[in-house]
Amino acid sequence: MGSSSKAGNKGGRKMKKEKEISDQTLTLRRRLHEALSLGIRQIENKGRRWRCTDAEIQSHSLRAISAFIKCMPSVPLQHSLIKESVPDMLLALGGILQSENESILCLAVDLTMELVCSLGKSICQYHVLDILMSLSCLLPTYKVSVVVSCATALNRILTNLGAMSYQYSEEVCEVIVKTNLVRSVICVMQGYGDGSQPVEYFSETACLLKTIIWRWPSFRYHVWSNSKLMDVLQGISARNDTLNTRRVLQLCSALALCGNGARKILENEELVSKIVGCTGTSHLDSVRLEALKLCQHLTRSAEVSSLLTDSYSEQIVQGIIGALGGWRSCSKIVPTDQIPLVMEAFRAALITRWAGNHHFFFWSNEIDRALLDNLIGNCSRSDQTRGMVLCDELIAKVYDNITNTRPFIWDILGWLAAYCEEDFVPKTTGKLCCLDVLIFCACAVAKDLMLKRRSSFSPDISEAEPVARAVLMLVTSPSRYIALKSKSWLFEMARPYGNDGLESFLLFLKLIAGGDVPLVSDNLQTAINLIGFACYSALPDFQKTIVKKKGLQMISDIIERCLKSDIHVSRSTIVSHLRSIPEEKTCCWNHVGDWEGGDVILFYCLQALSQLISFSMLECNQHEITSEEVVVSDADGLVEKLQFILHSNSSQGPKRYAAYILSFFGSFGTQSKLGQKMERALNENELADLQFVLSNGQSLRVHSVILWARCPDLLPKETSLKDEQESEQNPRTRQEVRMSDRVDYYSLIKILEYTYTGFLRLEEDHLKPLKILANCCRLKSLSLMLHRKLPTWGSSSPSCDFTKALEPTESSCFDIILEAEGSGGAWDCSICQLSRPHVHAHKIILWANCNYLQALFRSGMHESYSQIIKVPVGWIALTKLVNYFYSGKLLRIETDCTWKNMDKNQQLLQLQAYVELSSLAEFWLLEEVGDESLDIIFSCLEADQKISADIIHYAAKLSQWKIVEVGVSSIAHLYPKMRHAGDLEKLSEEVVEMLRTEYVRYSQKGS
Ligand SMILES: [Zn+2]
Ligand SMILES: [Zn+2]
Repeated sequence: MGSSSKAGNKGGRKMKKEKEISDQTLTLRRRLHEALSLGIRQIENKGRRWRCTDAEIQSHSLRAISAFIKCMPSVPLQHSLIKESVPDMLLALGGILQSENESILCLAVDLTMELVCSLGKSICQYHVLDILMSLSCLLPTYKVSVVVSCATALNRILTNLGAMSYQYSEEVCEVIVKTNLVRSVICVMQGYGDGSQPVEYFSETACLLKTIIWRWPSFRYHVWSNSKLMDVLQGISARNDTLNTRRVLQLCSALALCGNGARKILENEELVSKIVGCTGTSHLDSVRLEALKLCQHLTRSAEVSSLLTDSYSEQIVQGIIGALGGWRSCSKIVPTDQIPLVMEAFRAALITRWAGNHHFFFWSNEIDRALLDNLIGNCSRSDQTRGMVLCDELIAKVYDNITNTRPFIWDILGWLAAYCEEDFVPKTTGKLCCLDVLIFCACAVAKDLMLKRRSSFSPDISEAEPVARAVLMLVTSPSRYIALKSKSWLFEMARPYGNDGLESFLLFLKLIAGGDVPLVSDNLQTAINLIGFACYSALPDFQKTIVKKKGLQMISDIIERCLKSDIHVSRSTIVSHLRSIPEEKTCCWNHVGDWEGGDVILFYCLQALSQLISFSMLECNQHEITSEEVVVSDADGLVEKLQFILHSNSSQGPKRYAAYILSFFGSFGTQSKLGQKMERALNENELADLQFVLSNGQSLRVHSVILWARCPDLLPKETSLKDEQESEQNPRTRQEVRMSDRVDYYSLIKILEYTYTGFLRLEEDHLKPLKILANCCRLKSLSLMLHRKLPTWGSSSPSCDFTKALEPTESSCFDIILEAEGSGGAWDCSICQLSRPHVHAHKIILWANCNYLQALFRSGMHESYSQIIKVPVGWIALTKLVNYFYSGKLLRIETDCTWKNMDKNQQLLQLQAYVELSSLAEFWLLEEVGDESLDIIFSCLEADQKISADIIHYAAKLSQWKIVEVGVSSIAHLYPKMRHAGDLEKLSEEVVEMLRTEYVRYSQKGS
């Protein structure tokens, strides 16, 4: 009994504890030790191993293990008795699990499961790789009981490993890969269907799969890309078996951590309808909880969220509202047992952050009442509601709510307000208008926390940001009703403090603007102060004071500091309630960010500035901002900074606000590279096929394809543009269009400028006629800017994009064909008879985008009249090129799960297209395409060296030496290996020599 005496020396207290172990336990431990020593051997280089295939000894050991496991509950898991016995038991079980004797095997599996279950979280202290390996190998077995115990044990081990080091996690992952565990689990799950197996057969394996894909993203692809399995999931969810329905929901939740997985789930209509149905009140709370969780995972980005809400808004909203307010029938406040469900419903209700028709259903299902009831208790049951006018009482009731739901309530209220229509009016029910009370509470709590904030650092700071932000969203709401109500209450509450309240914010701004305080010393405080300041900026009675006290200039200075510093602050890093899933657990989710984006400090500055800039006493010009002839801020720098934001990688929110503020300086829209190219087309006459004639005789030549893509209402109604194709020869017939006498030449030019380039500059005097014309042409994006409407929450800035013209429709007036290299097999075109791969396009777009083609069209050479241009690239490259011409963006490769699991040849085809584009860019003079292509290729080579050799080979063939060089340096260290494997044979001598030289350099550097 060396172990107990060793531990006994450590101290009196511990010794006492160890003595409490009963004699019977000690006996069992001794027997265990003796039994296991019959099979465990010290193997050279491998440490201790179980080496015994004798069935007698194996059974004997299992009996000893079984007896010991039974007494384990009476001993603390950290006791040395346990800690020293477990490794041997794991060793023995791991070995015996490889037995071919069925009865021994079954017993061993069950005992492993029992042992693992009784160890719980403490399993992470032991070496489990071997037992994981043995269990994983057993899973594809035929016996139901073995599968269930195996899956349970594996799941327990993997769940309880806790936070692993990167290396350990990789080692476990390797075991899973080596034993093909994921494939075995999927096979087992697919086999569950004929109804002969017990419920646990599916539930335990599904649970195991969920655990694996939660932790290791790389396995998700194999699950969601297996459509047979997805159908099985759908079938099981349709059976109304509570346990397995929950398992399906949990598994889908884990799958949805992968953006592609989420899309795949949403493609399966029957499955989605089941999932959504599970949020309904007819299901058990435990099922609803999982369904609501899954809904959160499926709505992580605006784009994917819309796939769900387009068809299921009403049901989801009803599910959420049902869970938010189900308790009201029996209680005044949320009962404790309902809190988990209510919390999940609140998380799911964060879907209000995206635009969509679910907003309509939230209102029609009385979300305002549900929010208020959760905030201050069931209103309809409470008689105190009549006395709501007493502010203090109301606030006290708000603070009585201790469910941690308040930050959610404020966020949801803010988003609801932000997405309201201009003429929105709440449904008033009875004497009590829930929305009014909510707005009132938000303003009051915001004021309260702001004042506290000044006196001391209160613990309520986590609520201060959400509530203040909600108030800012209320006062800037498009709904006149909400904006007016919240502004008047906010003003009422701010008035007693006079300018003192404002003063504290100004003081803070001054410190930041002057650089006396580091920009990011306390992001939360900075954000709260800026929101507070923005709220004051929205109140007309304070605007004058703010302007006088140089508030504009200070905000402008802070914006400059934000842009100069490279520090970004997203909202989820400063408020805690939004962090539900750690970012690193997800994969393949693009564009997840909020509308306000990764730099909220900048965003709140822009919000404040946009409130101030619309103040009627201000006059803006390119150089200064004046109020009553006093310069209150210089403008040169500000305009430059706003332009910078427009062209930066910022999110849409900051960009939209920057564009809004710039409209006060006469700039409307965004200047883009494509827009600048298209500006040349404005004055191009040769290819123009329409001529606008004004009533005073002035005329303008335009290109119908551009109008078709960007402003179709300017096109003459009855023209059939198809006719033009028939008159194939140049010069084209140019159709004349007479304009109404109300259209003036200048406004028409400006409209065309915006249509061609997505941008225009305008003096204030010309605003009015242009507004009218923009309305007539239904150019909504321009019209909103001209009317200087605050940007709608969630909207994206209008971009200069002509891809709409590529859709083959009645009015698409294609006048040129681009033909790719290669035969491409049987080719079928809906427009023409050509049997080779080709794209139909428009000369004017090519003319504007590419100097080479421009020269070709002008040259008068035979090719300039040809209807077909042969482009020396393959089909994939050609489609990418054409898309670039029309959208201004070269499509990139997303190195996501799909890409990583793609067949190597498919990957190669994609990458080769960029090599071809890089080559084409050289003699078609497409600098941007060349640079982008290189960038894309390099980033892929860096991520995956397997295809480097093939890309190098291809690039060398096309004389793309830059690619060859980078490729060579990325795989130089593999040179000896490649030579050995014969991989060098396909490369030319020149390239092999480069590789060799680079390898020499590499190894010298290494030594
Ligand atoms: Zn993924
Ligand atoms: Zn065709």
